[in-house]
Amino acid sequence: MPSSAVVSVDLRGKLHKIASGKIRDLFEVDNDTLLFVATDRISAYDVVMDNGIPGKGALLTKMSIYWFKYLQAKIPGLQTHYITNSLPSALDALPFDMRESVQTRSMQVRRLEVFPLESIVRGYITGSAWSEYKKSGTIHGIPQPSGLVEGQKLPEPIWTPSTKAELGEHDENITPEKARQMVGEGKARIIEGLSLELYKAGAKRAEEVGIILADTKFEFGHEGEQVVLIDEVLTPDSSRFWPKETWEQSLGGAQPSFDKQFLRDWLTTQGLKGTKGVTIAEDIVEQTAKKYRDAYERITGESYSE
Ligand code: ATP
Ligand code: MG
Repeated sequence: MPSSAVVSVDLRGKLHKIASGKIRDLFEVDNDTLLFVATDRISAYDVVMDNGIPGKGALLTKMSIYWFKYLQAKIPGLQTHYITNSLPSALDALPFDMRESVQTRSMQVRRLEVFPLESIVRGYITGSAWSEYKKSGTIHGIPQPSGLVEGQKLPEPIWTPSTKAELGEHDENITPEKARQMVGEGKARIIEGLSLELYKAGAKRAEEVGIILADTKFEFGHEGEQVVLIDEVLTPDSSRFWPKETWEQSLGGAQPSFDKQFLRDWLTTQGLKGTKGVTIAEDIVEQTAKKYRDAYERITGESYSE
């Protein structure tokens, strides 16, 4: 693992930066293609921390590429935005070290019109779904059986979209009906169907290696009528991964997890939930990096190296 985190990417003006999310910087390669660069930034409760997690950007990129290939093999006809993990020739002139650092954290992707939805699928009840259920017996407005406990498996995985908020704003959970109004009935049906299929394929793979995929978030874009899986896929940033062996004994409370729940919990105990300008303590950085590495290694079956 490299010792320092890369929280911003400098391409020395070789490519034009078109957008910067909480984690990624997007550069224009040409009209149809983007360079999708994952930094080592980390966010919790929609706030980006001042320091990052060394190696995280490269790990998320490798893991997404693993999943794009895996899912394409499992789901015939699935379209993804992934093109290649090699760099565009515009970056040929960058010094070797810079090229290497950018290459490990980047992929070239199809530049698409993004649907304004976070396409969440939940197989287990936790997080904001659990908070809502406790109040109203529903999840994103969908009625649920009574008597569920925190962390329980739902009878069937459910599609629970949210809005995609602007930078600095919070995503808002919405009903599937509202999502259909936002993107149109036909497109919403495709997104829902694909999301459930992707969740099931991902959960099956995770299960094989002793991990529960409690929930996850997909994003989709489109080019004309074609709906395409975009962004990152089934990573510890976009998913809750729980070790299967401790699930049952942890029912009714928080689950141990291979993701940033650990950072969220630290922020909460420090009274820093939602606070800007936080520097994460060094041991928390290290333990978070280890959790991300564990998730990567268990799921891909490969030891993690840059
Ligand atoms: P956001 O900034 O959208 O609130 P985020 O902080 O999760 O969310 P990042 O992951 O840092 O965002 O950046 C990725 C951004 O790139 C997201 O806004 C995502 O919707 C967008 N994106 C992903 N894939 C594509 C694509 N193929 N074409 C265009 N935009 C894309
Ligand atoms: Mg994102």
